[in-house]
Amino acid sequence: MSAPTPVALVGVGKIARDQHIPALAASPDFELAATASRNASVEGVDAYRDVTSLLAARPDIPCLSLCTPPQVRYGDARRALEAGRHVMLEKPPGATISEVEDLIELAKSRSLSLYLTWHSRQNQAVAAARSWLSDKTIQSVSITWKEDVRRWHPGQEWVWRPGGLGVFDPGINALSILTEIYPGPLRLSGAKLVFPSNRQTPIAASLSFQDLKGAAVSAEFDWRQEGRQTWEIRIAAVEGDAVLGDGGSTLTVDGAPTAPIAPGAAPDLDFLQGEYHALYAQFARLLAAGASDTDLAPLRHVADAFLLGERIVTAPFDW
Ligand code: NAP
Repeated sequence: MSAPTPVALVGVGKIARDQHIPALAASPDFELAATASRNASVEGVDAYRDVTSLLAARPDIPCLSLCTPPQVRYGDARRALEAGRHVMLEKPPGATISEVEDLIELAKSRSLSLYLTWHSRQNQAVAAARSWLSDKTIQSVSITWKEDVRRWHPGQEWVWRPGGLGVFDPGINALSILTEIYPGPLRLSGAKLVFPSNRQTPIAASLSFQDLKGAAVSAEFDWRQEGRQTWEIRIAAVEGDAVLGDGGSTLTVDGAPTAPIAPGAAPDLDFLQGEYHALYAQFARLLAAGASDTDLAPLRHVADAFLLGERIVTAPFDW
């Protein structure tokens, strides 16, 4: 077995601590060699305050994994690619479509791997749902993604600033699953966005999509849900009904639970070891193949919602 590849984490915050650091500690493919973060560090790991100093000091680190908020991702990603490093990006991959397209072009021109991650796609029942849907005649898809922002993003002001996406920060996870499992193109056809009167990004959104075959596809996102949290995709097809529940970790068909992974669906991914383990395994495969994985579809739907969305103003939001 070859030695693990050194990787640097950029932005040591909530998701770096909750997921990236444990996933890297368990990874046979990577070792955490350094961090770049203005205020935080990881005990025993070489720490830099920013990406420029990290890149200058550590030419031996070929890969950077960026876990900062989307508004500040682009500059660091560009610096890393210009310095000849491979890059993995947290979701959403950036604040605009054009900055991410620029990164895709840059990575391609330098023959570097760029990985736009969508962690929810790695949930254990997503591949099974994709496999089930592939030969069905779909009548409707209804997404309900309702959670409590105070519980999941305590004090994170960036989510309310332009580029922070508001309720689309979790909502884009639902769209990443939808675009992974849906067999055919979908176009956003309408949106209602609910903005707190004192904030720049929406706290709730209703979306509808056009499917050329006539299925009714819709989504409801809400960040004001206390108590039970709901991350669910309900599918009605001529052949039966399916529910992808708990953020993509369970699938029931006509009320009966199914095995998490459908036979033959992505057998090379070990979903059971968790979303972030699967993301780093995929990054290792991309590096080995000299390839990139750059699907922008979820971000494109969000951008379209901001373009088309009716604006509704609601009560101010305070933590
Ligand atoms: P976070 O903790 O608020 O931010 C991560 C770190 O980025 C901060 O601790 C900060 O570290 C650094 N940073 C650099 N510039 C910043 C700026 N202008 N404003 C705020 N922080 C800045 O955020 P997070 O929850 O880890 O989310 C980061 C990304 O991961 C987001 O795109 C999010 O959608 C995604 N994600 C989050 C979760 C989750 O459960 N939280 C789950 C999946 C994906 P320094 O101050 O040390 O520089």
